[in-house]
Amino acid sequence: MSNILEAHTISKKFGDFTALNQVSINVPKGSIFGLLGPNGAGKTTLIRIINQITMPDVGYVTLDGEPLQNHHIKDIGYLPEERGLYKSMKVGEQALYLAQLKGLSKAEAKKRLQYWFERLEIGDWWNKKIQELSKGMAQKIQFVVTVLHAPKLLIFDEPFSGFDPINANLIKDEILRLRDNGATVIFSTHRMESVEELCDHIALINKSNKILDGKLSDIKRQFKNNTYEIGVKTDQIDHLHQDLAHKFSVSPAQFKTIDQQLKLNVKLAANEKPNDLLSYLTTKGEVSHFVELLPSTNDIFIQAIKNNS
Ligand code: ADP
Ligand code: MG
Repeated sequence: MSNILEAHTISKKFGDFTALNQVSINVPKGSIFGLLGPNGAGKTTLIRIINQITMPDVGYVTLDGEPLQNHHIKDIGYLPEERGLYKSMKVGEQALYLAQLKGLSKAEAKKRLQYWFERLEIGDWWNKKIQELSKGMAQKIQFVVTVLHAPKLLIFDEPFSGFDPINANLIKDEILRLRDNGATVIFSTHRMESVEELCDHIALINKSNKILDGKLSDIKRQFKNNTYEIGVKTDQIDHLHQDLAHKFSVSPAQFKTIDQQLKLNVKLAANEKPNDLLSYLTTKGEVSHFVELLPSTNDIFIQAIKNNS
């Protein structure tokens, strides 16, 4: 798979402060790429560089193999972190105006806006003034305007902040659909909930440095630590729990009983195999559950940042 976008060793200082330190990312065509990191990590700075709003001190960005130039702006749909719309303009009027700035004719813009307003069930907002909308409602309008000209690369800076869970889900589904229709998506977030379902590639930035990147499935494999979630039906729950704690490393925080069932997480030593644990458990009761525990993106985020500090 070729990369639609590459950022090569980008560094950026604001005065004495280094906001980005030699950060490189490769965004495969057709992927959903998560740019992750705590607040202040440098995500927005990198996104602004990709959108040619800020110049890097060092490094360069390519789009489809070409160094970034002015004309690339029309290939990118960008939803900035600070959402600004003209408060006193009407929704429809403003959306039409912004769509025409992106190069669409008025008739085409109107057609596409009608389609999107219907999709997002916001048709009756057309004649409202922006100032009458809540933050989340205004954000929906900006989302529509960002994707309207169907650019091949979409960049959303913290797209879910400001949305309630229902609208966040709706936007998530739209992002997946845009990808399925051929767009590549980069989005930044400091919260991990959305990452799991959306991203196939991630880069984690911490304190101006990229500390982890790659395919999410590869990273998960790299971070998994031989831990299994088990369930055993037995009438000797306490006994089995003690016995397991003696033989393996179990996390007591996970201890739960449901009916006559012992359910917990068991971490195996590097030289132990899951079959060792499974055979042992079958001698103790009826095994109802045996699943390898993969680290969540949240676990990976916390672990990687801990390893790095
Ligand atoms: P993130 O988006 O990951 O939360 P940012 O890229 O917005 O982080 O900011 C990274 C750091 O750079 C922050 O400490 C921020 O204060 C600083 N910074 C960003 N833009 C500027 C600027 N124009 N002038 C000075 N400092 C800035
Ligand atoms: Mg930011």
